[in-house]
Amino acid sequence: MTGSPDRLIDLRSDTVTRPTKAMREAMATADVGDDVYGEDPTVNRLESDAAALLGKEAGLFVPSGTMANQVAILSHTERGDELFIHRDSHAYYYEGAAPSLWAGVVTTLLDGPDGVFSAEDLSRAVRPDNIHHPTPRLVMLENTHNRSGGAALAPERLDPVMDLAHQLNLFVHIDGARLFNAAVALDCPVKRLAQKADSVSICLSKGLGAPVGSVVAGPRPFIERSRRYRKWLGGGMRQAGILAAAGLIALDNRRRLGDDHTRAKRLLEGLLALGYQAWAPSVATNMVMIDTNRAAEGLVQEARKAGVAFGTVGTHRIRLVTHQDVDDSDIDRTLAVFRGIKRSLSDAG
Ligand SMILES: *Cc1c(COP(=O)(O)O)cnc(C)c1O
Repeated sequence: MTGSPDRLIDLRSDTVTRPTKAMREAMATADVGDDVYGEDPTVNRLESDAAALLGKEAGLFVPSGTMANQVAILSHTERGDELFIHRDSHAYYYEGAAPSLWAGVVTTLLDGPDGVFSAEDLSRAVRPDNIHHPTPRLVMLENTHNRSGGAALAPERLDPVMDLAHQLNLFVHIDGARLFNAAVALDCPVKRLAQKADSVSICLSKGLGAPVGSVVAGPRPFIERSRRYRKWLGGGMRQAGILAAAGLIALDNRRRLGDDHTRAKRLLEGLLALGYQAWAPSVATNMVMIDTNRAAEGLVQEARKAGVAFGTVGTHRIRLVTHQDVDDSDIDRTLAVFRGIKRSLSDAG
């Protein structure tokens, strides 16, 4: 695994992780049944273990984080309802028009640093109950916040928004695709981060390293509705215990996320020392965002030729994500590549 110059160092996302040997063995030997009949013991265990970790009554295994968000929106709303969400949130920015297509809700977009709006912003946005307006119904938050550089959001940031939402009779769903990263970075139990939310979803296939899968968690009646919507969206899977077995190991992998954060920090500090400009959230996790003078896409192509892959966020920003398939020597090699680019192009930044 160490720094072979032939191996691509893939920092595009923490979704690129491949299942470990232990994970593949667990998948090969998983006890399975037909999950659409509720008879897969491994899926049932994953759902209850994840729900317990998140402090919720029940869980539902779904194929993707996108489906997790969409079944949550479907289960909380009716057609013509209003969803309040940050402009940079995954469920709005990266999921097509899915909330309007499936649930028939209107999205009201809010702004704010680190991908979160304040309780005051929400209070201003919610219109009085009146036949002229859509019915305000759901607030969606995201932790960590992906497009905001993996910002981890502490209870002091999110709790006031959730308290106000509940005072206004709105439901709250947390898109916690990387909620365990937030828990590690904030040194706060994941249960505490999800405590005031009606429902929460996590991705097993990001930094936790599973090949496939997400879990939605919440009160049992909500999960029963979500199970119906999952089927409706074509997400009812059969011997899914093969995947849930990987998911159970992924849940244990939460204990190693701190290593990714340490490497991201070292990468960030190395890039700053080379003179690159960083764009950092208030509490960072496993992502590094660098602002570039030149077109970000050009930098991506140049680095790729030198064996390092990463992505862009907009025209002049790149994003590098650490994960379990990146080690310390990969960080050194990445910094060497950036040093070379800097030297060859005095205005790279
Ligand atoms: C990746 C991601 C999702 C979607 O997960 P998929 O499994 O790729 O559909 C949802 N929300 C956030 C914040 C994400 O980062």
